Formats: sequence, structure tokens, C-alpha cells
Amino acid sequence: MDTKTRTTDTSQLRVNGERLWQSLMELAEIGGTAKGGVCRLALTDLDKQGRDLVTRWAREAGMTVTVDKIGNAFMRRAGRNNSLPPIMTGSHIDTQPTGGKFDGNYGVLAGIEVVRTLNDHGIETEAPIEVAFWTNEEGSRFVPVMMGSGVFAKAFSLEHAYAAKDSDGKSVKDELERIGYIGPEEPGDHPIGAYFETHIEQGPVLEDHHKTIGVVTGVLGIRWYDCTVTGMEAHAGPTPMALRKDALQVAARVMQEVVACAHRHPPHGRGTVGMVQIHPNSRNVIPGEVKFSIDLRNASDADCESMDKDIRAVAARISEETGLPIRIEMVSNYPAQPFNAGCIDAVRRGAETLGYSHMDVVSGAGHDAVYMAQLAPAGMIFIPCKDGISHNEIEDAQPDDVTAGCNVLLHAMLERAG
Ligand SMILES: [Zn+2]
Repeated sequence: MDTKTRTTDTSQLRVNGERLWQSLMELAEIGGTAKGGVCRLALTDLDKQGRDLVTRWAREAGMTVTVDKIGNAFMRRAGRNNSLPPIMTGSHIDTQPTGGKFDGNYGVLAGIEVVRTLNDHGIETEAPIEVAFWTNEEGSRFVPVMMGSGVFAKAFSLEHAYAAKDSDGKSVKDELERIGYIGPEEPGDHPIGAYFETHIEQGPVLEDHHKTIGVVTGVLGIRWYDCTVTGMEAHAGPTPMALRKDALQVAARVMQEVVACAHRHPPHGRGTVGMVQIHPNSRNVIPGEVKFSIDLRNASDADCESMDKDIRAVAARISEETGLPIRIEMVSNYPAQPFNAGCIDAVRRGAETLGYSHMDVVSGAGHDAVYMAQLAPAGMIFIPCKDGISHNEIEDAQPDDVTAGCNVLLHAMLERAG
């Protein structure tokens, strides 16, 4: 009977969108740029100010704060049964040099707003609720990206992360120490019951489809290749067309096939050539060698593998037709990360209960949730951002969408936390 009453009550629960928006704007003032964006690079004084503000808000909301050795912060609201692993949400508060107000910050402050809303209504959850911010997600000042969550998930070691240096030669460890964010907890030594991350889409799909909520089913796998086409340099004048070994003309055919390959693997196939080096790169010399990058992405490892076979087969055919050697070498392979079916359903149900238009989407960008998905059931909630633009000072989102995403987060977390 009690349970039933409570369920009815929480289905009516809504976050305070105005308060969430205010907090977003206040945090954006730290490192705010003239063009309306934010520059708050990881482990700078400004990052410290941002961290201090967010953890102060958490304490004011009655949460306890623990920090681990890589500077990840966990802000905890106790539950009725504190031996249960917490239902966690979070993201990052560092930004790109020309970053916006929403990327990452939204996911963290949406978590704080969930807690504030539960406090307003005196709602206790069975499992504790935690809000995390992960160190150096952006990877702009220090490589690798998603550093805090990566160390937490043991994708690489704490020592490896500590040793990373910025362009001035300052290390992660020294900078963490300097801003006072090396905590006592061992990274990863922290149970998670389920993880949700709310984020702006950083792409144009939701806006294009006029949907409020993106139910994220997973993150695309990425394969990076270096491709080399070898021809023969020769004078552009005396060498007739039939007797040339023009590496660029052959490379151009392969490049078009990279895009065609993505089209052959709908709906999530992506193919990009972003970097080209032509040798000797001279106006009147037939190019003797062309090196270029290939970036292939898709939603499952099977699809990534199929794209790999496809582009290699096409390159082999072009090589045979032209007589020029084409070498394709894989340099990185990030597996696709599907999210947990139960978490995906919780997000979809949240959107449906609340009456928001929604669609299933995949994330083409990496997020801390990718690492969390290796440790616990995880899911993500996307909201549209204006023109799909992010990593740019003009990054923008509608207050109504910001509120909607947070409401979905609230309901998904409540479903999981009991
Ligand atoms: Zn982000």
C-alpha cells in the first residue's frame, strides 16, 4: 500500500528547471569567455574554482563528498539501505579552450538538481544516490581523454595518468596536488549500482528530427587507419597520362570509397578522411606517395569489422586496377560500447511517462559513461543542442530541453534506486 502511494507520488515529481538553469549559468561564469563560452581547462585554478563551487552546492544539499587519487569527486546522498551500491550519475566540468556552458557541466548539475528535488519533496531512496565529476574528460590540456573515468575503470594506470604533462611541462600529479584534489580513495575502489549520464547531443540528429530526448543505445566503435598509396614522382609535363603512377589520383578513389563504405553500412556507419600528406607536394610533380587517415565508426564491433573488410577489399581492387600498391594499417581500435538494456529502457520509460518526444540515438563521441558501462549497467540521456554545435563557445541549449533531460534522469534514477 505504502509502495503504491509512493509510486503515484514520484510519477508526478518534476525538477526545478529554473534552479538548474541558474546553476548552469553560475558555473559558466568561472572561466566565462567574451563570446559566451567557457574556458576551464582541467586542473587549472579555474577548474579548482569550479570544483569548489560544485562540491559546495553538494554539501549544501546535504551530500558527503569523497575524492579519489585521480581527483574524481563522488557526491553522495544516503539512502535507506546504504550497503546497496549507489545509483550514480555524473559527467565532467572541465571544458575545451573554446568550450560551451553545457558540455559535461549539464550532466553534473542535472545530478545535483535531482538531489535538490528529492530533498524538496522529502523523498528517501532505497539505494544511495551519487553524483560524480570525472577529471579531465576533455583531454585538451592532458592526454589521454576521459582520464579520470579511464583510471577508475582501469583502462590505464594511475601512474600513467599522473605522468601526463601539458604543453608547459606541468604534470597531472603536480597540478592535482597544487589545486588540492588528490583524495585518499583508490580509483575504482567504489561500487556502482547503475550509471546514467545526461549530456547535450553534440550532433544534429535530435534537432533534425524535432525530438526532445535521445535515448542513447550505445557509443560507436572507432577504428583508425593510416593508408599509404605508393606511385612514382615524375615531371608533370613530359610524362603522358597513360604512363603515370599518380599516387594522388589513386588515393582520391580510395578516399571516396571511405565515404561510400560508410553509406554501405547504414544507419550508423561513418567514414572520414581528415588528414592527407602528399609527397612531394609540388605543383609540377606527379605525386609519388600519398598518406592519409581513415576514421571508420559503427554501432557494433561486427559492423566495424564488416567496414574494415569492405574498405580493404575495395582498396585491393583499386590497387589491382591501377598497379599501385595501397597499404592500410590499423593504428587504433576502440570497441563499440552498447549500453545496458535495462538502463536504456529506464530512460525510454522516463521520457514516455513524462510525455517527451524521444528517439533512439547512438553517440558518435566518447563520454565517461563508456568507461562506466564496462563496470556497471549504464545508459545516457541526450538533449538537443543548437545546430548540433559543441566544443565551441556558441554551444547552446534550450532551457525546456535542459529541464526535460533532467526530469528523465530523475525518473530513471528513481526507478533504479527504488
Ligand atoms: Zn562532454
